Amino acid sequence: MNLVWLRRDLRIQDHPALAKALEDNTCKAQILYIATEKQWKKHNESDISIEFRKRRVNQLAIESGSIGIKFEKTSCETFKNIPELLLNYCMKNKFRNVYFLKETPFDETQRDEDVISTLTQHSIEVHALDYDLIVSQPVLSQNYQPYKVFTPYYKKWLTMIENPKQWLKYKIRKSLKPITNAIPFETDVKFDSKLSNWQISSYEIHQKLENFCNNKIENYQQDRDYPALNSTSMLSPYLSFGMLGPRQCLNIIKKTYDKKNKDWKQDFWLRELSWRDFYRQIMIHFPHVSKNKNFNRTINVHWDYRPDLIEKWQNGETGFPIIDAAMRQLKETGWMHNRLRMIVAVFFTKILFQDWRVGEKWFMENLVDGEFAANNGGWQWSASTGCDAVPYFRIFNPYLQSQKFDSEGTYIRRYVPELMNLSNKEIHNPTKSSRKICHYPEEIVDYKSAKNRTIHLFKQSAT
Ligand SMILES: Cc1cc2nc3c(=O)[nH]c(=O)nc-3n(C[C@H](O)[C@H](O)[C@H](O)COP(=O)(O)OP(=O)(O)OC[C@H]3O[C@@H](n4cnc5c(N)ncnc54)[C@H](O)[C@@H]3O)c2cc1C
Repeated sequence: MNLVWLRRDLRIQDHPALAKALEDNTCKAQILYIATEKQWKKHNESDISIEFRKRRVNQLAIESGSIGIKFEKTSCETFKNIPELLLNYCMKNKFRNVYFLKETPFDETQRDEDVISTLTQHSIEVHALDYDLIVSQPVLSQNYQPYKVFTPYYKKWLTMIENPKQWLKYKIRKSLKPITNAIPFETDVKFDSKLSNWQISSYEIHQKLENFCNNKIENYQQDRDYPALNSTSMLSPYLSFGMLGPRQCLNIIKKTYDKKNKDWKQDFWLRELSWRDFYRQIMIHFPHVSKNKNFNRTINVHWDYRPDLIEKWQNGETGFPIIDAAMRQLKETGWMHNRLRMIVAVFFTKILFQDWRVGEKWFMENLVDGEFAANNGGWQWSASTGCDAVPYFRIFNPYLQSQKFDSEGTYIRRYVPELMNLSNKEIHNPTKSSRKICHYPEEIVDYKSAKNRTIHLFKQSAT
């Protein structure tokens, strides 16, 4: 019997480690999940994402049981405890082979190295397989260097996507007699309404993916920046926890395009999935970003620290309607549209001039899809400290962004209802008197002078 250790790859299909474990030796595999609550908290993971993960693990226990695979959960405090725990588990249950998919952040890599060293010392074979990416092997330039800029990375990445036939090898074909697995976690009803939009069964998750590809993918490129349109896939929580494999997305993209006799590699949504790979690969090649450091070490700005401004930003009380709508959405639902993530992160770093690490932490503490590589990448992009980051002098104007991407104020009205009755024109920047009438605050900073100060401070730090 082989042991498959699931981590941030909470699925059964398109799972190279599970498929391999079922193929090797005995054709029998058991799944183990190790909960590390203290570590999750150390990584600032939000309560909602922890609950979401637990519910999915419960669901996997049911789904794996239905195809005859035993599923067990055990727990320890942090990653440090895992090697010993896993060793004892293998010894007790006589597992001689352990399979898992590799992960990219530093702590996870360190954990896996310790596990490999401990288990192999006791003659247990460890099979650390692919990263959970579309292109798992290193994407390198002609000089064998990792890319720091997305577009050339993407061009190379497109040439490296495996032949679709390869993906099918990861299908679990064996159907054994169903068994009943114990349900690992107790769930907390207080999250029921917040999580009601996020399905946990593999079937429903796939339906969501298929619906997106059938109905929205064609217009994705032109609609994706308008938050009121709900035109993006909203698959991030599933991709973040590996409940959906990136190659499963690829498979359906290909089918969708094949039906129309179009070239699937031209798909724009595919490009977004490539960003997911890109930021995860950055973790492998530049581990300093996992240690709270700027990706770009030459940037040395000294951020302000203003708890009063930080709190207003967190609570959606900045007096900038588009910022407040987005920040309230994050608090209420645990999710935020990509365009808004960029706008609020640039606002936090370039207008409030607060440290990106503070914003990064707040996002992790609140997002249902919080994922280290994408979050760190997005924050460092916004702060101009990252790879392929926005130049420091290109600072989004929140009023113009609002007019452009929410021109009728539909999105703002959803989350800042006190501005409901303002005109489509005024809603982006209410007058003093309208603010008073609507009980909506004045802006906490003056946009223009804050922007000029930031440019000055960035310039100064470079000299
Ligand atoms: C400051 C900031 C913080 C972010 N934090 C996270 C995070 O914690 N977790 C997270 O999954 N994404 C994060 N993103 C990336 C992006 O905003 C979300 O992935 C996207 O909004 C999710 O919505 P969707 O599923 O509808 O995306 P779609 O537009 O449908 O894209 C499909 C998938 O591609 C991937 N993707 C898209 N854009 C990016 C990107 N820029 N970087 C990495 N992957 C991407 C995601 O897996 C996403 O689900 C962040 C972006 C910024 C600017």
